[in-house]
Amino acid sequence: MDKLQFLKECENDLKDRYEELDDIAYINQKKILDAFQENKVALRNFYGSTGYGYDDAGKEVLNKIYAKVFGTEAAVVSPLITCGTHALNLALCAVLRPNDIILSITGAPYDTIVDCIKGVENKDIGSLKDFGVKYEQIELKNDIIDEELVLQKIKTLKPKLVYMQRSRGYGWRKPLSINDFKEIIKKIRIINKDCFIFIDNCYGEFVETAEPSSVGADLVVGSLCKNPGGGIVPTGGYIVGTKRAIDLVEKRLTAPSIGIEVGSYEMGYRLYFQGLFMAPQTVKNAIKGAYLIGRVMEKLGYTVLPSSNEKSYDIIKSIKFNTSEELIKFVQLIQSLSPVDSDATPLPWEMPGYTDPVIMAAGTFVQGASIELSCDSPIRKPYVAYFQGGLTYEHIKIVAEKLLDMYSNI
Ligand SMILES: *Cc1c(COP(=O)(O)O)cnc(C)c1O
Repeated sequence: MDKLQFLKECENDLKDRYEELDDIAYINQKKILDAFQENKVALRNFYGSTGYGYDDAGKEVLNKIYAKVFGTEAAVVSPLITCGTHALNLALCAVLRPNDIILSITGAPYDTIVDCIKGVENKDIGSLKDFGVKYEQIELKNDIIDEELVLQKIKTLKPKLVYMQRSRGYGWRKPLSINDFKEIIKKIRIINKDCFIFIDNCYGEFVETAEPSSVGADLVVGSLCKNPGGGIVPTGGYIVGTKRAIDLVEKRLTAPSIGIEVGSYEMGYRLYFQGLFMAPQTVKNAIKGAYLIGRVMEKLGYTVLPSSNEKSYDIIKSIKFNTSEELIKFVQLIQSLSPVDSDATPLPWEMPGYTDPVIMAAGTFVQGASIELSCDSPIRKPYVAYFQGGLTYEHIKIVAEKLLDMYSNI
């Protein structure tokens, strides 16, 4: 069969999914446009600042827009935050004090956060544990929050912070939906009004029409090299939340005496605004592309998550392979079809913050940006490739076509 015809059929199988995604992008685009207009974004907001960065109007307006879009009282969006891990660690350190307890209710956090929380044995790395913060976790039960156990633990343990991760990380599990968050937050609040409800929102932004922060979370954190950067933001992270929480984040980002009053960025903020404006479209294309890749792999006999019949609650498509060789071959194909560094061959390596060797394809314009076409996986059983991103749908379709060459003689 003709390859393009085969892909057409796959696209046809996904018609309902694609329509849902169009509707979601439309609502999110509107929300973002409204925030821009309400805050009277002007060209002068794109200029950079130097030194202390006093009266940096771009920074101020950008923070307000994020707060509006994420439905929170306040926000810190900054190129001074180096990545998602940094943003998450910063937000945790900002609100936690010695003897406080963190309770994760979605199992283990993302690989790079584990050491930040639990530390390293016999070594002071300045982790939360080293500062006397305690940690407990409750595993997910059949991919969902173990509500009974969670509520009981919150009653007895009285955690200062309840931690949840929206996306799947490197686990074979479904991401949490906004509805899941809404339900559990409502119930937690009945028992404990004051604990910080904290969400690692990486890969989840604009996948639905609401964010965890608009259904009651106190702190929501993510990376600008992922969804909200729209594929063009050069670096940074964001933290949105209640005024109580964000005040502390501002003081931790710089110093308790000065907070967000300082902080400059000479390059200017145009890409930060423009990236956010484009994010719903970028996210939509990435998810459509991920479905297409998933559908092709399904037809070739592989198991993917989410399947073509399920809704997507992050931008990732997990593809389960039988062997590590097969997995590595797939990741290498993705790299070879990238616009940048297409002649590089990715190999598994020990990356800082990860326990198993990780293989990563990211032939991206912004180094390691996983809202761009990318694929990564720790080399451990089950052999799962985590495919995500793509700046244009057409680029991902080219990958889908090449997969057909590689995996079959259709
Ligand atoms: C990517 C990711 C992180 C870490 O972000 P970096 O920018 O890579 O540091 C944390 N949590 C989740 C769920 C992620 O997907």
